[in-house]
Amino acid sequence: MKKFKYLGLLLILLGILVNFIIPNRKYTIIISIFIVLLGFIIYLYSATKRLTWQCEECGYKFKINILEFILGINVIDTKLLYCQKCHKRTNCKALKLDKTNDH
Ligand SMILES: [Zn+2]
Repeated sequence: MKKFKYLGLLLILLGILVNFIIPNRKYTIIISIFIVLLGFIIYLYSATKRLTWQCEECGYKFKINILEFILGINVIDTKLLYCQKCHKRTNCKALKLDKTNDH
């Protein structure tokens, strides 16, 4: 999944660079925003796949989807997420457990 992370970052960079490579073109800014957004989504997708979250209150470990990742409020190094076991919003810690999934 590390590949996706770098692909996302590369697309964000490319999206910004497009403005310098093709300046004064009518749709350059639209193309640029589109590429940046695409890169951002890929980056977020890889982040959601890589991380496992642990509930502060019950210790339950779970995965979240991209929407929850965007909507979850960051609190320093934790995230306010809906725990599937407690059935309430708790501070959750990010764990990088799936290192073995990196191919
Ligand atoms: Zn919990």
